[in-house]
Amino acid sequence: SPLPLAGSAPTRARFSFEVFPARSGAAALALGHAVQHLSAAGPDFISVTYGANGSNRDASLDLLKYLRDHTDALPLAHLTTVGESRDAVRETIHRIMDAGVHDFLALRGDPPRGLDEHDPAVTGSLSSLELVDLVAEARAERPPLTSVGRTAVAAYPNGHPLSRSRSQDIEWLIEKQEAGAQFAVTQLFFRAEEYLGFVGDAQSAGLRIPVLPGLMPVSTSAQLRKVASLAGRPAPEGLERALEEAGGYAPELGVEHTVDLARALLAGGAPSVHLYTFNRHEQVLAVLRELQLLTPDPIG
Ligand code: FAD
Repeated sequence: SPLPLAGSAPTRARFSFEVFPARSGAAALALGHAVQHLSAAGPDFISVTYGANGSNRDASLDLLKYLRDHTDALPLAHLTTVGESRDAVRETIHRIMDAGVHDFLALRGDPPRGLDEHDPAVTGSLSSLELVDLVAEARAERPPLTSVGRTAVAAYPNGHPLSRSRSQDIEWLIEKQEAGAQFAVTQLFFRAEEYLGFVGDAQSAGLRIPVLPGLMPVSTSAQLRKVASLAGRPAPEGLERALEEAGGYAPELGVEHTVDLARALLAGGAPSVHLYTFNRHEQVLAVLRELQLLTPDPIG
């Protein structure tokens, strides 16, 4: 079936999903089931993480191909440069495009296990700006089919861990826009004003591209701690306490918090919501149902 073209499909979809490659055969079967449900909901795209936390990079390409061949969703490839030469990155871009995937989230990438942000192997990697350029070059070499793809970049409402100031984060995001990025997706955060304040300031400074807020409905206290570390802010006390009182596991609490947050974001002008799925469909679809963004799931 033809892929929906980003921006031109006659769809009102106002949400997208993130999944990560499965690490076992059993997990892959469960993920196949989850992405069928996610795809049936009609997202703008489903993004696939790349190499994060030491995961197998070939598995990302396999999952992108699965999405492309076995679902109606538009696959979007996260791609990182850390620890790779320019030629190796270029070759990976070509492999992904040859698999029929033309949409990218261009990232520098998390430091590999055992290295920190200051290691020369990390600081010497190509930046996301250079990756945006490499993707554009690869598209230009392969017209006209691949010219339809879009390139996204990362944004940090609470600042990248290495950034010294909000104005530095904003300048860097605007540089990504000038390099040719067509939209941005945010790091996780807990409070609507963190996103709305950042985007408002960035727009005053010249940002024009849409910034999709990244949201993750958590089920467990451990996931909440993980989100807090990525967000660089403490978790909301009420949510933390309620999860603990529920014995550390309560998916409905994550749904409730995400629904409230998404409502405030959309009311404040966010263009859509990008949901981190943890490779499960139940919670994110519950969020969308509550937000009335979902037509009934045809798979049921
Ligand atoms: P870059 O934009 O290249 O910047 C790298 C660092 O240098 C930043 O600190 C930036 O502020 C600083 N910097 C560089 N040049 C300048 C300049 N001129 N002015 C100011 N600052 C500068 N990681 C993975 O490994 N795999 C994934 O799949 C993945 N998916 C992600 C998805 C999203 C939505 C987000 C937000 C992050 C994701 N990450 C992933 C994590 C990401 O790779 C890390 O946060 C990484 O540290 C930074 O990547 P970047 O593309 O933002 O870096």
